[in-house]
Amino acid sequence: MTNKTVLISGASVAGPALAFWLERFGYTPTVVERAPEPRPGGYAVDFRGASLKVLERMGLLDQVRAKATELGEMTYVNEAGKPVAVMKSTVLSGELEVLRGDLVEILYDATRTKVEYLFDDSITTLRQDETGVDVSFERSGSRRFDLVIGADGLHSNVRRIAFGPESQYIHDLGYYNSVFTVPNHLGLDHTARFVNVPGKTAGTYSARDNTEAKALFYFTSEPLKYDRHDAAAQQRILTDAFAGVGWEVPRLLSGIAGSPDWYFDSVSQIKMPSYSIGRISLVGDAGYCASPLSGMGTSLAIVGAYVLAGELAAAGGDHVLGLPAYEERMRGFVKACQKQGKDSGQWFVPGSKAFLRIRNLNFKLLPYLPWRKLIDELPLKVGNSIELPDYAINASAGLPQQPGAQQR
Ligand SMILES: Cc1cc2nc3c(=O)[nH]c(=O)nc-3n(C[C@H](O)[C@H](O)[C@H](O)COP(=O)(O)OP(=O)(O)OC[C@H]3O[C@@H](n4cnc5c(N)ncnc54)[C@H](O)[C@@H]3O)c2cc1C
Repeated sequence: MTNKTVLISGASVAGPALAFWLERFGYTPTVVERAPEPRPGGYAVDFRGASLKVLERMGLLDQVRAKATELGEMTYVNEAGKPVAVMKSTVLSGELEVLRGDLVEILYDATRTKVEYLFDDSITTLRQDETGVDVSFERSGSRRFDLVIGADGLHSNVRRIAFGPESQYIHDLGYYNSVFTVPNHLGLDHTARFVNVPGKTAGTYSARDNTEAKALFYFTSEPLKYDRHDAAAQQRILTDAFAGVGWEVPRLLSGIAGSPDWYFDSVSQIKMPSYSIGRISLVGDAGYCASPLSGMGTSLAIVGAYVLAGELAAAGGDHVLGLPAYEERMRGFVKACQKQGKDSGQWFVPGSKAFLRIRNLNFKLLPYLPWRKLIDELPLKVGNSIELPDYAINASAGLPQQPGAQQR
């Protein structure tokens, strides 16, 4: 096997999942994470289709299931709080839903004793040559690795350093979103409530067995200029965007100040002409973010990590063969997930009163409509739109090298 040492930037979903599989296949991964520890808390993320198969192959499916949010139906209300439509749980929660922080903890626990983690650090430079990549860190000095993988999210540091400015690859979908933890003041019992006015969606869902809730906001907007590290400025933007919206919105917004976590960002996708450049590659949101509206970001991260490690191992570690094979297997899946992300926006954040009425009527009548099954079948079809080789079986049988794999 060649290219044994692999540096991964980012310890959220894609990073630890990739480290898990690389270690399983005989590599020596190191993960560098900017945060001082695995980031707890956060919003709910869901799994659909192939990603569940990967979790099962990791032996982690039961652990993840044990943390399921078990969110039931969600109700749309009008600004006076009157229910106007109800949606099945699978629309918001997929086949299995957990809080992102719980998933990160499970992935970290599954790797922490076998994988080197460098917290509170970040890559500053990458210089690759024929035989490896020289890496310098903010705090850990300089080291050399065989390969470097960016699993550092929508605003990937590795992508910026190795592939160029984010502006070349980011495609805004025309929305901003925010999520933060609030008290479950509505007493929601494993359920969610949302209100819409044209171009704006606000809501809340209970979490951690109803002991807390998440406030979730989406609004349409032209690209905004703001400092990504200035939470107060972002909070002003959100509060201004929802000024005058009724129902429980003012109360949810009043929870910003006391919230232990805060997330605000554009709803964007990443489209790369190539996922890899020499010995450096990208996985998860860093390489092909489909946006939160796709409901597929976590699945993409888990599946992408498995396929990257598997294709590399199947090529005997040869990145010249393994990285393009990873990209080829992922492309169709990424395209389908990104299409779903783009198409979902108008349904989740209707832009006009007329479309809002049509949407609500559709949801109300859905049980009687001929296309009622589509609402479950379409996301499942997307979730399953990738064929997953059983790299794990190959690996336990001794990692056969594919014909043509060259040693470097
Ligand atoms: C509000 C919201 C709701 C969502 N809902 C869903 C959902 O229902 N279903 C779903 O599938 N997905 C959902 N997603 C998307 C999902 O969270 C992401 O797609 C998924 O987390 C991607 O994982 P990742 O590991 O690629 O990147 P991320 O989770 O973004 O992690 C990137 C990691 O890299 C670290 N990092 C960043 N910069 C550096 C640096 N310079 N050096 C070192 N480390 C760095 C970060 O701290 C972080 O730990 C949602 C996202 C949001 C924001």
